[in-house]
Amino acid sequence: MVKKKAVAIVIIIAAVFIAFLAYDGIANTEVESAFFSMHTHSNVKLKGAHSRKASEEIRELTDKLDTDILSRTSSSSVVYQLNNNGGGNAEKISSYLNILLDVCKKSDGAFDFTLGAVSDLWSFGSSPVLPDEAAISSALSHSGYEKLTLDGNNLVFGDKLSVIDFGAAGKGIALDEIKKILVERKIKEAVVSIGGSILLMGNKEFTVGIRNPEGNSGSYIAKLRIPEKCVSTSGSYEQQFEANGKKFHHILDPETGYPVNNGLLSVTIVSDSGILSDALSTACFVLGYEKGKALAETYGCGVIFVTEDKKVYAENGAENYIEITDNEYTLVVQ
Ligand code: AMP
Ligand code: MG
Repeated sequence: MVKKKAVAIVIIIAAVFIAFLAYDGIANTEVESAFFSMHTHSNVKLKGAHSRKASEEIRELTDKLDTDILSRTSSSSVVYQLNNNGGGNAEKISSYLNILLDVCKKSDGAFDFTLGAVSDLWSFGSSPVLPDEAAISSALSHSGYEKLTLDGNNLVFGDKLSVIDFGAAGKGIALDEIKKILVERKIKEAVVSIGGSILLMGNKEFTVGIRNPEGNSGSYIAKLRIPEKCVSTSGSYEQQFEANGKKFHHILDPETGYPVNNGLLSVTIVSDSGILSDALSTACFVLGYEKGKALAETYGCGVIFVTEDKKVYAENGAENYIEITDNEYTLVVQ
């Protein structure tokens, strides 16, 4: 009798132990996936019991965010409707608009998400061309964030020909929305990249590379060792093309409608917020080193500038977690 009881107890303990191991195995399930969404390449690496489900949800979310909300070309999207009706109900994007209008103001218009008509002329993302000067100045005359008014959830276009474009912040917005899924699904660790924007989540130190602006996509000039954050890079190497012996890229100076030409090759922002990291990397690229550094400071974000003369400026705390890995580049500490 005693022997039977002992055997039963051993079996129960073994079963509990096996169940624990099995549960832990599931709890640490790792899922990796790569897909094309929001007109760019995305990578998702998750660790946690519901990784597979969360990974599927992320993919659905990015597709829906694009088609239903941010897309310039999908006729059902909020942004498309606003552009085609010269404003209207913007409830689904009003929280993003408030943040982006603030970046427009604080960057003194260097960041301006009403440049859609000008960007269109350059045809970035498809077959870029050097536009006609007169066409640029005509399109530019309808841009300007000051012409927009957000009245509650109603977005009023002061100029009905303004074209809003979330190209500079959409990837960051996606990261913020993805984070909500990760929290809900209790994911332990996550690295999600959408184009040049990355979300890091988990209780550990992550390593993120700063891309070599003159090399291929797998080559890096520095690494950052950081806790869970969002990291976005804007680089003139993205969507670059040549015309009349000159190089052009997709980050535009809102004053001229032409690509910014200020000696910078890339700007990286480290922030708790996806939308801010994405918007500020574009804004700081346009502003250049001095003003960009001040803007990043206003928002409490780390910032890294890489210049054409192969210097790397790391500011607002970024100097503490950057390590240069390519000896052609020099870290400048101010
Ligand atoms: P990113 O790669 O995040 O820096 O975003 C670049 C995209 O933002 C471009 O392809 C345009 O759609 C848009 N864009 C270009 N110049 C600006 C600007 N000065 N302010 C806001 N958006 C811009
Ligand atoms: Mg951006």
